[in-house]
Amino acid sequence: MTEHKMTFRDIGLNEQILSAVEALGFEHPTPIQEETIPHLLTSNQDIIALAQTGTGKTAAFGLPAIHMTDVDERSPQTLVLCPTRELCMQIAKDMKDYGKFVKGLNIVAVYGGSSIDRQIKALKKGAHIVVGTPGRTKDLIHRKKLKLENVGRVILDEADEMLTMGFKEDLSAILGETPEDKQTLLFSATMSKDITSVTKKYMTDPLRLSVAAINVGAANVEHIYYMVPARDRYQVLRRIADSTPDIYGIVFCRTRRETMEVANKLMQDGYNADAIHGELSQAQRDDVMGKFRKRHIQMLVATDVAARGLDVDDITHVVNYNLPDKAEIYTHRSGRTGRAGKSGISVAIIHTRETRRVRDIERVSGVQFTKALVPTGEEICTNQLYALIDKIVKVKINGPQIEPFLPAIYEQLEGLSREDLIQHFVSAEFNRFLSHYKNARDLNVSGSIRDGKKRDDKIDKRSRSDRRKTPFARLFINVGKKNDLNPGRLIGVINEALDSGNAVIGEIEILKKFSFFEIEEQAAMPLIKALKGQEFEGIPLSVEITAKKKPQRKWEFERKKDFKRKKKGKGRRGESRHRTKKW
Ligand code: AMP
Repeated sequence: MTEHKMTFRDIGLNEQILSAVEALGFEHPTPIQEETIPHLLTSNQDIIALAQTGTGKTAAFGLPAIHMTDVDERSPQTLVLCPTRELCMQIAKDMKDYGKFVKGLNIVAVYGGSSIDRQIKALKKGAHIVVGTPGRTKDLIHRKKLKLENVGRVILDEADEMLTMGFKEDLSAILGETPEDKQTLLFSATMSKDITSVTKKYMTDPLRLSVAAINVGAANVEHIYYMVPARDRYQVLRRIADSTPDIYGIVFCRTRRETMEVANKLMQDGYNADAIHGELSQAQRDDVMGKFRKRHIQMLVATDVAARGLDVDDITHVVNYNLPDKAEIYTHRSGRTGRAGKSGISVAIIHTRETRRVRDIERVSGVQFTKALVPTGEEICTNQLYALIDKIVKVKINGPQIEPFLPAIYEQLEGLSREDLIQHFVSAEFNRFLSHYKNARDLNVSGSIRDGKKRDDKIDKRSRSDRRKTPFARLFINVGKKNDLNPGRLIGVINEALDSGNAVIGEIEILKKFSFFEIEEQAAMPLIKALKGQEFEGIPLSVEITAKKKPQRKWEFERKKDFKRKKKGKGRRGESRHRTKKW
């Protein structure tokens, strides 16, 4: 007996949505959709869903939300909150796809680090569904540009990430602006204590669901990452190539310059490699592509743009020498392998502070990465040796052509025994590897992209001495305790503005009317730029670089005093001083 599989029509969605779903190629609802969609269409009960990316959760809340939208009512009816700009844009885009046949439907994304005026304009046109990051959403509510009194459902997507990124207070404030009788849906990949406390506070008698991920993307592509020190990227690439003698791959770099550098180094080190990038003439490009197609080039080093039209089957490896700036580009890159039923490997070479970016990619593209270890020198030599022996055994002997040369060769090799001969041949081919990998270091660093999520989520787990090595800038911000700023919220503001949890934050000092904080130097100017024109609790933010705090020794001195005071059972005097380690 064949099992009856539910269809989107069975679920009761309207015709416009069914057409959109069909256009997207969704045949059957995923498990979470089967459970969530009918529930949302018929009941006002809250939902807590333990669901990761790849479960189809966006459509699970998006399709019924669109179905229930009254387009004649020009005010927000659904509010979706999510942690990052990237996800916010992705959800809005997916929802626009789902609602593309619904006339007059207006979906607006609002997120930090981008012009607020444009978002205000978009809201003014009458948004039915608003997808936002917490800080920007709250800012817009405060400016009275986003009104939530008609909101019927609020979706908290990636709730765990929102909490770890410092948006707890913003979420409370936003939820406080929504009607009491709304329906709340919370999606989270994990159920931490913090999540449970949020659900207790803001949800009533919720329905609990837990679902597994569906398989998306090319199922025959394996996604792996190597975690190594940033300076060792090139060595890792060499090891990938050396451990896979038959590699036929594309190495993606972020810039044209990097592309040329990597390709040049590879060529100098004796690999069949070349670069393709925007500055080549069409003829040069055709030449490189031709060689790659004929496999005269084994590794093509490319920028994303240059690789756009590249259509080659049988690629064994896609190497992300550097991760792409946008998570969805990863899907394009990895889609170059695993074609036509073949299997392929997509490798990301990352350092410890890129774990969040890998998780972003997982979330946006619905793939799952596994950590792999960079092969050791010994493993590589073993692989190479076997490949060489295999080649010797399988090589096609071209009798008539080599025959004239043989007598002279035999004569020269006469004194060598069979064992000697083998040793000489192997060494001739193999010494290059032996000398390169003699005393080779282990390039792997410990840790994983799933390490408690905190390694890179602003909460600096590195040792204090390591943190001291990070060059920090010290910034002034014109809000403080009086404006309900606390270290957690400040971290939220920073994360939202930079759209990442990657920036390393140092010491935070929240004073009464203003505050100071340290942030790694390279993130300071982007942050100042991103916070320009933003508000916090109605105050236009002003952030600037201030002089570094000189008297380190005074600080140590104060700490000692504090310590003594604490020992005597007294609290601290004056303003609080926070180290990020606590957060
Ligand atoms: P999500 O978990 O929402 O990030 O979705 C993961 C991926 O699954 C997205 O690429 C969706 O387009 C896709 N997807 C969602 N629902 C379905 C479905 N019913 N059938 C096939 N693919 C789906």
